[in-house]
Amino acid sequence: MSPARPFREALIDLDAIEANVRHLGELVAPAETMAVVKANGYGHGAVDAARAALAGGAARLGVADLAEAVALREAGIDAPVLAWLHDPDADFGPAARLGIELGISSAAQLERAAEAALAEGPGPIGVHLKIDTGLSRNGIAAGDWADAVALAARLERAGGIRVTGIFSHLANASPETDAAQLAAFDRAVDEARAAGLAPEVRHIAASAGAIGTPAARYELVRFGISIYGLPPFGDGTTSAELGLVPAMTLRGRVAAVRRVAAGAGASYDHTWHAERDTTLALVPLGYADGIPRHLSNRGEVLIGGRRRRIAGRVAMDQFLVDMGDDEVAVGDEVVLFGDPATGAPSAEDWAEAAGTIGYEIVTRIGSRVPRTAV
Ligand code: PLP
Repeated sequence: MSPARPFREALIDLDAIEANVRHLGELVAPAETMAVVKANGYGHGAVDAARAALAGGAARLGVADLAEAVALREAGIDAPVLAWLHDPDADFGPAARLGIELGISSAAQLERAAEAALAEGPGPIGVHLKIDTGLSRNGIAAGDWADAVALAARLERAGGIRVTGIFSHLANASPETDAAQLAAFDRAVDEARAAGLAPEVRHIAASAGAIGTPAARYELVRFGISIYGLPPFGDGTTSAELGLVPAMTLRGRVAAVRRVAAGAGASYDHTWHAERDTTLALVPLGYADGIPRHLSNRGEVLIGGRRRRIAGRVAMDQFLVDMGDDEVAVGDEVVLFGDPATGAPSAEDWAEAAGTIGYEIVTRIGSRVPRTAV
């Protein structure tokens, strides 16, 4: 048993992120790539993921809230960063001081951005105005757009902001809804230009739109899940089919081994019983570490080169694996998910078994699991 290998860790293949970004960038060129590194780089580590993405040719970084953008700046990353989701009481001062661009979803945010820039300088805050083209979530409502662009033009002339982009977000509901959203987006951009604004970039596509809908690429696309090597489509398309390599391997080691007799129950509520004498391997990761409880009696992991079924309930800190009569020892490697090319289940396999999406699998890996860059 090598003491150097921990009993739980997420291996992060930064070369895979770099290669995925390069591959995706070639696909959408001449559109530029924004690498989305919110939610701790979808669980992969925001700073490392950002650096790898920039090395792969990303021109910009995108995050949800301003604190995530500040953390990138504090780590010494000076690439353009856009933060687009703000609490109603968010303080935009750091955006002014650190040269972080803001996605703007309301007139109130626009005014507060201009005030922050005029109070804290050194110059105007770059803003990307967000139009709601059909997701009905955030973004400026279509009915408020004319007033918003007029306000933006006024605040730009006063020196508080500079409108560097206009963007929206696709619902990916169907080709028809995509087309309707693109048409609404084009109308909004025309209206902004008529009001005197001159955005450098238009962007509406995340991974699914950028890969699947060439008309949605404009000057910039926002790639999230795909830079981490997972497919954005929920239709069974694999990473390999998209030329992507999954960057996260969740790995553990067997912490205990127990032989149980036929009929024995295991884990909470005894939802599993041994059909015959069998060996159970204990894996020291649980739902507090992001292992979905829905994988109880359903999910599979790789031990000793073979996929094995989880036996009984996934608990907060541990779960059991049915090994049958196969040899297994404390310290043996368990690959929970990773690159399916290695024989391991993919994050997508886990998502399917748990009734969710790969995004949720990787972003929920908990803070007790150290990330190791490889
Ligand atoms: N753009 C916005 C506004 C988002 O909220 C997200 C993620 O949810 C993305 C882009 C990236 O999406 P994806 O991970 O599907 O590429």
